[in-house]
Amino acid sequence: MRFSDETLHDIKCRFRRELENGLGRDTNTTATVKMLPTFVRSIPDGSEKGDFLALDLGGSNFRILRVKVTQDKKQPVQMESLVYETPEDIIHGSGTQLFDHVAECLGDFMEKQKIKDKKLPVGFTFSFPCAQTKLDEAVLVTWTKKFKVSGVEGMDVVKLLNKAIKKRGDYEADIMAVVNDTTGTMMTCGFDDQRCEVGIIIGTGTNACYMEELRHIDLVEGDEGRMCINTEWGAFGDDGSLEDLRTEFDREIDRGSLNPGKQLLKSFIKSLQLVISSIHPPFSSLCRYARRLHKTVRRLVPDSDVRFLLSESGSAKGAAMVTAVAYRLADQTRQIAQTLAEFRLSKAQLLEVKKRMRTEIENGLGKKTHDSATVKMLPTYVRSTPDGTENGDFLALDLGGTNFRVLLVKIRSGKRRTVEMHNKIYAIPIEVMQGTGEELFDHIVYCISDFLDYMGMKSARLPLGFTFSFPCHQKSLDAGILVNWTKGFKCTDCEGEDVVELLREGIKRKEEFDLDVVAVVNDTVGTMMTCAYEEPTCEVGLIAGTGSNACYMEEMRNIETVEGNEGRMCVNMEWGAFGDNGCLDDIRTQYDRAVDENSLNEGKQRYEKMCSGMYLGEIVRNILIDLTKRGFLFRGKISETLKTRGIFETKFLSQIESDRLALLQVRAILQQLGLDSTCDDSIIVKEVCSTVSRRAAQICGAGMAGVVDKIRENRGLDHLDVTVGVDGTLYKLHPHFSRIFHQTVKELAPKCNVNFLLSEDGSGKGAALITAVGCRQREQEALQA
Ligand code: ADP
Ligand code: MG
Repeated sequence: MRFSDETLHDIKCRFRRELENGLGRDTNTTATVKMLPTFVRSIPDGSEKGDFLALDLGGSNFRILRVKVTQDKKQPVQMESLVYETPEDIIHGSGTQLFDHVAECLGDFMEKQKIKDKKLPVGFTFSFPCAQTKLDEAVLVTWTKKFKVSGVEGMDVVKLLNKAIKKRGDYEADIMAVVNDTTGTMMTCGFDDQRCEVGIIIGTGTNACYMEELRHIDLVEGDEGRMCINTEWGAFGDDGSLEDLRTEFDREIDRGSLNPGKQLLKSFIKSLQLVISSIHPPFSSLCRYARRLHKTVRRLVPDSDVRFLLSESGSAKGAAMVTAVAYRLADQTRQIAQTLAEFRLSKAQLLEVKKRMRTEIENGLGKKTHDSATVKMLPTYVRSTPDGTENGDFLALDLGGTNFRVLLVKIRSGKRRTVEMHNKIYAIPIEVMQGTGEELFDHIVYCISDFLDYMGMKSARLPLGFTFSFPCHQKSLDAGILVNWTKGFKCTDCEGEDVVELLREGIKRKEEFDLDVVAVVNDTVGTMMTCAYEEPTCEVGLIAGTGSNACYMEEMRNIETVEGNEGRMCVNMEWGAFGDNGCLDDIRTQYDRAVDENSLNEGKQRYEKMCSGMYLGEIVRNILIDLTKRGFLFRGKISETLKTRGIFETKFLSQIESDRLALLQVRAILQQLGLDSTCDDSIIVKEVCSTVSRRAAQICGAGMAGVVDKIRENRGLDHLDVTVGVDGTLYKLHPHFSRIFHQTVKELAPKCNVNFLLSEDGSGKGAALITAVGCRQREQEALQA
C-alpha cells in the first residue's frame, strides 16, 4: 500500500491516458473515465450579483436554498435553506409524483420566503449521471443510489420540473442550470478565489472536475473557450488498468460492494480511508489525508503551484453560483451583442453604401460637381493597360511608403516576357522630411546618383516613373501638383507645385546625369498596372494597407474634368474621403467618431477610418475601453495601456483572429500589450476584433461592388468579367479580410464575375510599366502629329 514516487508517476500517466480517451471522439465510448461535458463555460469572476434559488436533489436530503449574491465585501453570499423529506413512496413512485413533489416543496419554500410573486433564476444540483447538451438541459441516464422513479430515465429533468411547476400555476421559476456536485464545489470556491479551476469530492465517493479547453473536447462543438468537464474518475481502473496495484483489501471491498468491478478508484480510496481511520481518530485522519494529498500532488507536479481550498456547502451553493454566473453571462452577452450589433451591417445597408459610393463617383467625375465632391476621382493620364509589347530599361522611384527606394526595372517583351528588378532602399532623415523642398529633392537626386553608380549606368538617359503616394492633381501623365503632404512629410515650398518639375530641377542642379521623367504614379495605379501585365482583364486597382484607395479604367466621355471623349483613362478615386460630407454618418458608431476626433485630420477620410489598417486597431481599442467601463472586460479596470492611443495595432487583430490560435495564445498577445485578461475576456476581445474587421471588409467590398457595376454599365453589359489587382498588408496578412471582401463584392454585384489578383511590388514594377506605356503613348502622339 505504500507507493513509491515512481509508481505514482506511472499512475498519473495511466490516468492522463484515460482522460484523453474520455475526451476523444472515437475513444469515448470505450473509455472508463467518461469526461462528461457540463456546459459550464465560465468560472465566477467575483462580479456576480442577484437573488437565486438552488435545489439539491440526490444527496441524503432534498434541500432548497435561497442564495443572495452581493458585492458586499464582508458578506458577499447570504444563504437560507430548508430540508424537505422525500417519502419512500415517491423515491419508488412515478416521475410525475416526484416532480410534483419537488415543485410543491419549491412553492412552499417561496411562500415562506415571501417571493412567490418573483420569477427567480434557479440552479438545480441533480447528482445522478446525466447527458447534457446545454446548461439547462439534463437527460437522466440511469438512477443510482436509492432512487428508482419510473418514467424519468431518458427524459430531460428540467422539462419535467418545468411541467410540474406550470401545472400548479401559482408561481414561476427560471431554471437556468443543472449541475453535478463536483462542479458545484469548484464554482463555490471559484467565487472566493478566481484561480479555482478544479473541483474534487472526497467523501462517500470520489470525483473531480476541471476547466478544459473546448478544442480538446471532441464531443462538444466549437473550439473557443473552455468548459468544465465532470471526469467521473471514480471509474478509473474498471478496465483492469490498475489491477497490478490493487491489494487483497481492495478486492475484498470490491467483491462486497453493490457494483463489483465498478468504481474501483472509489473503493481504492475508501480502503485507504478505512486503513487510516482504523489507526487514528477520524478528525486527525482527515487532516492527515488532506496533508498527504496536498504533498503528493505538489511532488508529482513540481512546476505547478497548486493550492487547495475547502468548499462550504458546495453542492447546493454551487448550483446557485453556476446560475449566478450564467445569469451574469446572459446579461453581459446580451449587452455586448447589442453594442456590436451596430457594426453588423445588413445586406440592405451594404447595398445602400454601394449606392452612395456610386453617387459620390458621379459627383467626382462631373464638371460642375467636382470641386465640392468628396471622392475626387483624379485623372491619372494612364490611358491603357500594358499589352505585353512593353520593352526596355526603366528607373522607378518609390516615395511615400515606409521606405524610399530607387529601382531599375528591365522589361522584356516577346514570347518569354520577363521583368527583372534591382532596388536599393534609402533612408530619408527626419530633418529632410521636414526641411525645405530643395533639400528633399537634392537628397532624392543624391540617392539616384548613388544607385546609378552602384549599377554602373550613369551615362544612359533612362526613362523614369515616379511613384509619389500623396494626393496630386494631374494635368498630364508627367505632371502632378501636390495638394498636401501627409504621413509625416512636411517640406516647405512643395504644396501647390508640380513634383516632377521639382525633381527635374534637382537633377539639373546636380549636373551629373540626365533622366527622362515620364510619369507620376499613384500606388493604386501601379498596382492595377502590375496585375494587368499578367492578366489583361485587370482594370481596377485596390490598396488595403495603411490607408484605403482604389482606381479603375473609366470611359473618357464620363470624365468631364478632362477634354476628349475617346477611349478610357485610369481614375485615382481617392475613395478614402467617401463619407466626408456626412453621407455615411448613419452607419458610423460612437467608436468611429471617437477615433476620428482623436485623429490628426478630424472629419476627413471617414470611409478610410472605418476600413483601413491605420484605424481598425483604434476602433477595437475604443470598444474595449467602453466594454471595460461597463464592467464586461478586464474586471472593469481600465489599464494605462488601454488608454494609450495606437497601442492596439492592426497586426494584433490579424494575430488574435487567426483560426489556429488557442485562447491561451490570445491571452499571451494581450499580456504582451499589458492587458491582463481572463479566458472569458480573450473570447470577447476576439469577437470585438472580428466584428470590426468584418465590417471593414464588407464596406470596402460594398465600395468595390459600386465600382465594378459602374464599369459594367459603362459598357452596356449584362455580365462583366473583370480582375481587380490588390496590394496592402491588411489584405495580404489579415486571416479573414480578403475572404469577406470577396464574398461581399460577389453578393452586392451579382452581375459581375470579379477575379482578384495579388500585386507584387506595384509601386516599383507598376511605375516602370506606366513609364513604358507612357513612352509608347508619346511615340503614337508624335506619329499622329
Ligand atoms: P502602405 O499601405 O503604408 O503602403 P502596407 O500595405 O504594408 O503599406 O500596409 C501597412 C499597414 O498594414 C500598417 O500600417 C498596418 O496598419 C497594417 N498591418 C501591418 N501588419 C499587419 C498584419 N499582420 N495584419 C493586418 N494589417 C497589418
Ligand atoms: Mg503601399
